[in-house]
Amino acid sequence: MLNVVGKVIILTGASSGIGEATAKVLASNGAKVVLAARREERLRNLKLALEKQGGTVEYKVTDVTSQEQMEELARFTIDTFGQIDVLINNAGIMPLSFLHEKKVMEWDQMIDVNIKGVLYGIGAVLPYMRKRKQGHIIDVSSVTGHIVRKTWAVYSGTKFAVRAITEALRQEEAENNIRTTIICPGGVRTELVNTISNEEIKKSINESLQIALPPEAIANSILYAISQPEHTAVNEIIVRPTKQEL
Ligand code: NDP
Repeated sequence: MLNVVGKVIILTGASSGIGEATAKVLASNGAKVVLAARREERLRNLKLALEKQGGTVEYKVTDVTSQEQMEELARFTIDTFGQIDVLINNAGIMPLSFLHEKKVMEWDQMIDVNIKGVLYGIGAVLPYMRKRKQGHIIDVSSVTGHIVRKTWAVYSGTKFAVRAITEALRQEEAENNIRTTIICPGGVRTELVNTISNEEIKKSINESLQIALPPEAIANSILYAISQPEHTAVNEIIVRPTKQEL
């Protein structure tokens, strides 16, 4: 039996793309999933669809940039299911641009969602996991957390930060038996490209996504990391389309 059955899993960014696909894979493999994102209708519909297939699913509308809301999400999960086994920090945005365009609001949003959101999530669940000396935190970075290209400055910076934060977390919490996993997807077909306001860049990213993976490919790598025995921590996974060079 997979080491995922009965696990209570909080999943941010559950309303579309990789998050939605991950919710489906985890619920159909017996996990109890708490969906979090801002778009309530999407979360409600997903919960209903997964319940119809026999899944155990709840949702809580949450903006990951609010520390208070992330704390409430953790408390809601404890009140509903009694424990938190896994947190998946998946919510993210990718408004790519050139630095000279000085899109300060987009820089700030990326830092707030992609970095602070991850930190708030870790902060919210750690006390519960440390108490039980058990838990698993999965942070979604990117191949852009390994390499940098023009227009990726801030996005890449946030994804490098996610890897740094997760590696420090691993070292700090190893003695508390808490597992960490960094997931680094390459191109995946999702709504992420819609967060790009520079039309030229959006067009070129859309072209590059012709070889992109379906989000289920990333969901399956998350399932793999969770399903390993408790003594085995899969610390990082990079998943690219075979034809993607960089
Ligand atoms: P989507 O745009 O499809 O999904 C992004 C999710 O993040 C949505 O559910 C959205 O929900 C949520 N989100 C955005 N802002 C917030 C917020 N402030 N509070 C709560 N939730 C928020 O993109 P993906 O599925 O592709 O992205 C998932 C992760 O994968 C991201 O971290 C992304 O950086 C990473 N990634 C994606 C790649 C790709 O090619 N697609 C490649 C590498 C990494 P809502 O708007 O309802 O709040």
